[in-house]
Amino acid sequence: MHEFSLMQSVLDTVEVSARDAGAKCVTAIRLTIGEMTEILFDAMDFAFEALSPATLCEGATLVMRSVPPRSRCYVCSEEFTHDRYHWACPRCDSLATELLAGRELYIDSIEIEELEADHFVDSEKPEEDVGRSA
Ligand SMILES: [Zn+2]
Repeated sequence: MHEFSLMQSVLDTVEVSARDAGAKCVTAIRLTIGEMTEILFDAMDFAFEALSPATLCEGATLVMRSVPPRSRCYVCSEEFTHDRYHWACPRCDSLATELLAGRELYIDSIEIEELEADHFVDSEKPEEDVGRSA
């Protein structure tokens, strides 16, 4: 249940940012997840469904973007993408390669509904009335 503790820290982080931004609720969370992390999207979805109720993130859309592993060969400097299990250089077959991407896990962005949104709707009505009477 690696994903449960990950999702818990994602939700904690999002909650703090959302509160700081004056959010009424969070409508979307976008995550970038490298394939080398071996994080399962299904398990993340499941953890989100289990952990988000009664938080600001309840009902938010969870969007996860996967990043394929990319490496550079120490021998010939070739850069290439690969899967989780094969990282030999396609040009010279060397296994001396450096992983450049694929281990990331971060929150790309969040979308929130601001508390002020309600006041906006209210303040538009009197303006309309003024317009009509003028
Ligand atoms: Zn190479």
